Amino acid sequence: MKTLLKKHFGYDEFRPLQEEIINNVLNGKDSFVLMPTGGGKSLCFQLPALKLSGLTLVVSPLIALMKDQVDGLKANGIMAEFINSSLTGEQINDIMERVRVGEIRILYIAPERFAIKSFQDFLSSIDVKLIAVDEAHCISEWGHDFRPDYRNLGILKQIFPGIPVIALTATATEKVREDILRHLNISKAKPFIASFNRENLNIKVVAKKKAFHKLVNILDKYRKESVIIYCFSRKETEEIAENLRLNDFNAAAYHAGLESNKRKRVQERFVNDQVNIIVATIAFGMGIDKPDVRLVVHYTFPKTLEGYYQEIGRAGRDGLPSDCVMFYTYADTRKHEYFINQIETSALRQKAEEKLGAVLQFSELISCRKKYLLSYFGENMKEDNCQSCDSCLTKKEMFDATEITRKIMSAILRTDSRFGRSYIVDILLGKKTQKIKINRHDKLSVNGIASSVTADELGQIIKQLIDNGLLLKSIGKYPILSLSRKGRELLQNNKKIELVKPMIEAVTEIKKKAGELEYNQELFEKLRALRKGVAEKAKVPPFVVFGDTALQEMSYYFPQDKDGFSEVSGVGVAKLDKYSEVFLEEINKFVKDNNIKAPKRESVGVAGIKQIKVRRQKFHTKTKELLNKKISVDRIAKNQDLQPSTVINHIEKLIDSGERLDLDYLRLPTNRYETIKQAFHECGDEKLKPVFEYLGEKYEYDEIKLVRVLLRV
Ligand code: ADP
Repeated sequence: MKTLLKKHFGYDEFRPLQEEIINNVLNGKDSFVLMPTGGGKSLCFQLPALKLSGLTLVVSPLIALMKDQVDGLKANGIMAEFINSSLTGEQINDIMERVRVGEIRILYIAPERFAIKSFQDFLSSIDVKLIAVDEAHCISEWGHDFRPDYRNLGILKQIFPGIPVIALTATATEKVREDILRHLNISKAKPFIASFNRENLNIKVVAKKKAFHKLVNILDKYRKESVIIYCFSRKETEEIAENLRLNDFNAAAYHAGLESNKRKRVQERFVNDQVNIIVATIAFGMGIDKPDVRLVVHYTFPKTLEGYYQEIGRAGRDGLPSDCVMFYTYADTRKHEYFINQIETSALRQKAEEKLGAVLQFSELISCRKKYLLSYFGENMKEDNCQSCDSCLTKKEMFDATEITRKIMSAILRTDSRFGRSYIVDILLGKKTQKIKINRHDKLSVNGIASSVTADELGQIIKQLIDNGLLLKSIGKYPILSLSRKGRELLQNNKKIELVKPMIEAVTEIKKKAGELEYNQELFEKLRALRKGVAEKAKVPPFVVFGDTALQEMSYYFPQDKDGFSEVSGVGVAKLDKYSEVFLEEINKFVKDNNIKAPKRESVGVAGIKQIKVRRQKFHTKTKELLNKKISVDRIAKNQDLQPSTVINHIEKLIDSGERLDLDYLRLPTNRYETIKQAFHECGDEKLKPVFEYLGEKYEYDEIKLVRVLLRV
């Protein structure tokens, strides 16, 4: 299977679950796949399609995506076509004929076709071996994207009894999942549920102050990369895009109010790398599948976490590190509240409020944001620290909050515990709003007693006091603050309290590109330009020619011949044939002009041409990078889909090759470490087994091995 993977798709390793799913499909069984965007769902039916002798049918709801997928398959030398309403009758007949003679392996079809009797007859006469239903949640009214045409798909099991069906989606609640299985008649489908933790995404929330200035600073690092900025209104998208252009950014606005041709043009320019920044309302993103979006910004915070997750999901689909930045100010909730208040049904309104409340909570977290996000979707993340959100990456500083806490509590008490957070904040800041004046609270002694603190800082402190149980927040549309018993005690007894210092940000620095190869940027740019030219000629998007991963590897390993080129991730037989010459020419010229010595790389080779070996050198580099970031062995292993023992092998090899690594943080608890150390002393460190036995088989091999490594440093 790995041979096919390298040969046709140019990849060396499967992503999590892909191999298991493919096996299930090839065993003729039905599968249900729930995997986040970018998880690699398509491969789960595309690879079996190549192994099976007949035709694979793929049902897909989005016309634009079908074309991209088919273009991508063709670029890999795979015979694929699609049938949907964008084609003429003649074109469709031609494709049907080619299907009949067995020329086509994968056929994408829009769901409405299945309602047509003559099309059903046509299908019955074809040797179909596998049916894939992409975006399967569209079958359910409970989902966010119900398509009545998907209901026609129940017929598939009737036309093709015994043919395996694979249903795939990135969003399915329990109800939606039941619907999918029921309507597709695949009640016994084996479920494959992947983790929704997108480890390559760095997420960050920044205060929305001097927001445009911050935005420009962030974007400066993405001048050539693809970026999506989500805004609240059409007007805002236009304004920001315009302001960005004035700052020499290549930005375009996108929203539902644009005329449809214009919208299409903007999308195309983005997909073809002609414009790199899209400033959009949430309408953007449904119809595109660009794998190399490196940054997603929420300029206004989203109204649900479901939406947020889906939108950040558009970043880094190719698995490379990508950033997601949300601008947050409490004031933005009012924009959403205005619309929520228009909802007439009270149950729905309450639901919308709860969802908005969850976003608010997420934005104000001081603990791991990914853990919160995953738990919101019902997944339990084991670790408390994801190493990829700002909460986990920021050192938390404590401060003596006794005085400010007393001020906040006084303001609540002096206003008879009848108001919510923003009102209390306004009083503390000394604002004289209409409401404050009417209530005569401008005359209170607490008015303005915290005017040297900002509203956001006060908000963060109040949030912590609620989390600590010192303040109570009532439930409902206008939550009211009051003191808990614990809070009163604190105030009465004049107790000291420490809190996490509110984040007062300087212009934000984004952690950029952790874990990426240290490739040659100059060559990368040249290859990117070359890719664009090649893509324009072939009339396909640049990422269909090569993904960023492939270009980065070329700019790191500097392959100088076909063999070396075949080792690059994403280079299969077809692309080797089609593109190696032009790309090698560029690389060789660069190597010569700059007198570059390429790093050695263990041979991998294209399957069918050469045998596949795992690319160890790359893993070592990655392991080293992660060790320098003080990441645990288990997480390094997970990050690279390896066993912890393999990572320990890497560490051993790195040390043996003279690398200086600071591994102190990997030390086991002293007693375990000392016991194992003693055992090595007794048994020598040549072999692990004697030590394992000496220790009464009470210690894991991995632990023992790790201590041996630490003893060698
Ligand atoms: P999904 O449909 O789950 O959102 P895709 O099937 O579009 O994800 O895959 C996302 C990206 O990951 C694509 O660019 C694809 O080529 C790439 N990809 C898929 N499987 C692998 C793999 N095993 N190794 C490397 N890249 C992969």
